[in-house]
Amino acid sequence: MARFILLLVLFVVIARTFWRFIDAILRGVAGPAPPFDSAQGQHRGRRPGQQSAVKMSQCPVCGTYVVPGKAISMVSGGTPIYFDSEKCRAEYQSR
Ligand SMILES: [Zn+2]
Repeated sequence: MARFILLLVLFVVIARTFWRFIDAILRGVAGPAPPFDSAQGQHRGRRPGQQSAVKMSQCPVCGTYVVPGKAISMVSGGTPIYFDSEKCRAEYQSR
């Protein structure tokens, strides 16, 4: 019985190593692989297109952080500026 458990453990270790190898290949194909981070024990791939963190933008008037997708935007000199409210945008334009 002990031998069976030993074989089972060995199989799991081999299977996991094998899967990690396959995953590494798939990541290599999908895009540039992040630096070896398997030490974390879980997949924390920073793949392009994977929305892990929303990039916040700061309102130049009051300093409130806003999500660009939901904010009031204005393009000034080719650069989009995001405001948290119409009031802030009006104030920015009146300057
Ligand atoms: Zn504001």
